Amino acid sequence: AETVLITQQSHEELRKVIDANKTAAPGQQRLVVVSVSPQSRASLAAQFGLNPTDTARKLTAFFKKIGVHYVFDTSFSRNFSLLESQREFVQRFRGQADSQQALPVLASACPGWICYAEKTHGSFLIPYLSTVRSPQQVMGSLVKDFFAQQQHLTPDRIYHVTVMPCYDKKLEASRPDFFSQDYQTRDVDCVVTTGEVFKLLEEEGVSLSELEPAPLDSLCSSVSAQEPSSHRGGGSGGYLEHVFQHAARELFGIHVDEITYRPLRNKDFQEVTLEKEGQIVLHFAAAYGFRNIQNLVQKLKRGRCPYHYVEVMACPAGCLNGGGQLKAPNTPGKELLQRVETLYSMVRTEAPEDAPGIQELYRCWLQGEGSERAGRLLHTSYHAVEKASSSLGIRW
Ligand code: SF4
Repeated sequence: AETVLITQQSHEELRKVIDANKTAAPGQQRLVVVSVSPQSRASLAAQFGLNPTDTARKLTAFFKKIGVHYVFDTSFSRNFSLLESQREFVQRFRGQADSQQALPVLASACPGWICYAEKTHGSFLIPYLSTVRSPQQVMGSLVKDFFAQQQHLTPDRIYHVTVMPCYDKKLEASRPDFFSQDYQTRDVDCVVTTGEVFKLLEEEGVSLSELEPAPLDSLCSSVSAQEPSSHRGGGSGGYLEHVFQHAARELFGIHVDEITYRPLRNKDFQEVTLEKEGQIVLHFAAAYGFRNIQNLVQKLKRGRCPYHYVEVMACPAGCLNGGGQLKAPNTPGKELLQRVETLYSMVRTEAPEDAPGIQELYRCWLQGEGSERAGRLLHTSYHAVEKASSSLGIRW
């Protein structure tokens, strides 16, 4: 089933939808929307020797040239993922004594890790998982709900494609939780990897560097996007950093400017602590790669997990090193990754609560923070697969 999904959700499927639009009767066309992840943008920037802003503008020009109507940036939807993660953590921390929801909160933006948790550990890990949707799936809600209303279209009249650093995002997009029964459509119809975008460029005979840049699109008509923006805290979304800084301020009145990571077993397993009056009051960790994830799960199973929050990612070194990113035949992997990391962090960063349009969308689209609508459109749930995989660390 996974192989079928990977061949169905591909740049070829995107091309078919664009071609069908060219011959469709008036009123029968689908609005094609592409949402690009900042990790993919950094990988393409490294490949073409461009800066991230030029890459974003030239990618927009390329997609428009082949028949895409709008090109958005998933950094925008990540503002919601980060704000909801901060709120969820504080609630769970405060309610620890009488809450069914357990600590540590385990970040859930990585579908490689979520699939492993559901398939390999039955229902054991599910209470720990953050219920916040990943930036890809928040973008799904934004495009198929908010943007569809703005365009006076039903969600099935929009074909929504995301550009992502990994193949596992295709499986995330196809989860039944993100399918609308009413309109028989998914929040994200098709996921293409960075490598598949590169193939599309090659097949179209286009070199990104030679394209004239186009202005960036914005989901919110009141916001004009001049250049891409991103978040602090590393190439996997900055969950640990944002939740930590917010929790330190909100729960203990401490302002943390810079986060100091302490490596544990290796550079992919690091921790951060906050002390007050000589006591550790917050204990966070980042665990990347299956070796470290297995170690974390063992700690949890033995009741010896000291953490309040863990940013868990399946790929060693995180999303910038995802399996769908571009490889450079003549450049060692480590050197290329460093280049991609530099390009990723060259973008202007902003605090999610200050990002233009976010407060307005909470008010007008979601009917307020913590509302039933925000719960439905920004959160999800998980399902234990009782037939456990026998092999720890198996990728799917
Ligand atoms: Fe995908 Fe890897 Fe990032 Fe997980 S860590 S979301 S598998 S790129």
